[in-house]
Amino acid sequence: MTHRIINFNPGPAGLPLQALQRVQAELLDYRGSGLSIMEASHRGKDYDAVHSEAQALFQRLFGMPDDFKVLLLQGGASLQFAMVPMNFLAPDQSADYVNTGEWATKAIKEAKLFGKVRIAGSSEPIHFSALPALASLDLDPDARYCHITTNNTIFGTQYPTYPDTGEVPLVCDMSSDILSRRIDWTHIGLVYAGAQKNLGPSGLTVVALRESFYQKAKTTGVPTMLAYRTHWEKDSLFNTPPTFAVYIFKTVLEWVDSIGGLAAVEQRNRDKAALVYGTIDANPDFFRGTVTDPASRSQMNATFRLPTEDLEKQFVAEALKAGFLGLKGHRSVGGIRVSMYNAVSPEQVQEFVGFMETFARTHG
Ligand SMILES: *Cc1c(COP(=O)(O)O)cnc(C)c1O
Repeated sequence: MTHRIINFNPGPAGLPLQALQRVQAELLDYRGSGLSIMEASHRGKDYDAVHSEAQALFQRLFGMPDDFKVLLLQGGASLQFAMVPMNFLAPDQSADYVNTGEWATKAIKEAKLFGKVRIAGSSEPIHFSALPALASLDLDPDARYCHITTNNTIFGTQYPTYPDTGEVPLVCDMSSDILSRRIDWTHIGLVYAGAQKNLGPSGLTVVALRESFYQKAKTTGVPTMLAYRTHWEKDSLFNTPPTFAVYIFKTVLEWVDSIGGLAAVEQRNRDKAALVYGTIDANPDFFRGTVTDPASRSQMNATFRLPTEDLEKQFVAEALKAGFLGLKGHRSVGGIRVSMYNAVSPEQVQEFVGFMETFARTHG
């Protein structure tokens, strides 16, 4: 049996073992075709089925309404920071952004290149340690769209529910919590995510775009490859898509389906987060959560500090020896970050909180 470490990396993240085994079994001869799907034409029938089944399965599993289309793109969430305003914001138009962390800040920087940006809310004054209350957001009813980061990977905050933006389409950077729980699609116009946290390998960017919002995209002045219009009309086959990454994405979705779909994933994620936060809260003299408002705590990335930086270094090193990878907090926050994306199992988190308890007992 191959040795597999317990992977708490913030991204790229671990993939479900069953999905990897499937990929391994099909790697050299994809379903009797005599070649790897990696080597197949993106215009051929084998890849075509992978492409359309991945889109359909993602739409179904995520409970996405029928008026959405799934686009399979490249460039990461970071390119979406620019593509969204490039397609939907003109110099005389305004968009709302809620600033809840480093990724939101980067999205805001790009949007300013294309139009007016209003900051509808910000947790920068409190160093992003909680989310602004939804009721406190200063939303512009005439905004072209309102942009939020649903899960702030670095600071460990996540919106329990989304703002009511009325007629204004909500644009969500969902890179680090996409397909982790059921969501309310009512106000959403566009969702984007790099695949490498919850959906598959790096190299694929998944966008879900609502038709009514898509209709408002600019028709001129956007380079062909950066226009949603191109990918919408050509069903993400204008040029060569990242075929192997799309195939692994589909394999991961089939795993989600096999364990009971989104409701089961949501329950697993709730259970995992309860284990980690429960352990933090049960040892308040040793572990200190960095998120000040419990309602803003992320189910995907739990961030906490230990009494000293030396103990934090020791925690990360001893955890690695015990088989737990990727626990060092982002350099801008320090401390510990436990990234428990979909592929991390409740049993693995149970093992890890055992390590946390032992460490607190022996070093506290
Ligand atoms: C990881 C991450 C990004 C960056 O994604 P890339 O695909 O590397 O561009 C953007 N936003 C959030 C919330 C992230 O977690």
